[in-house]
Amino acid sequence: MTRTMVSKFQRGSGTYKCESCGRATRETGHGESDLRLCRKCYNGAGLENEHSDYGHGEYLEDCPTCRADA
Ligand SMILES: [Zn+2]
Ligand SMILES: [Zn+2]
Repeated sequence: MTRTMVSKFQRGSGTYKCESCGRATRETGHGESDLRLCRKCYNGAGLENEHSDYGHGEYLEDCPTCRADA
């Protein structure tokens, strides 16, 4: 509970537009800002990679490739 925490997360700082869906988003601590994606699209991109590399063994609603195949 220190004041220094607040200044690190000022409103509007670190926001960017998702390259995939175009929504304003920001880093939530999962590394998605490296790819300029929002959390949802970042998650989808990861699943897409997994799908093409190994598959998941099941249909995953969050995977864009699974949804395209369905
Ligand atoms: Zn997005
Ligand atoms: Zn998939």
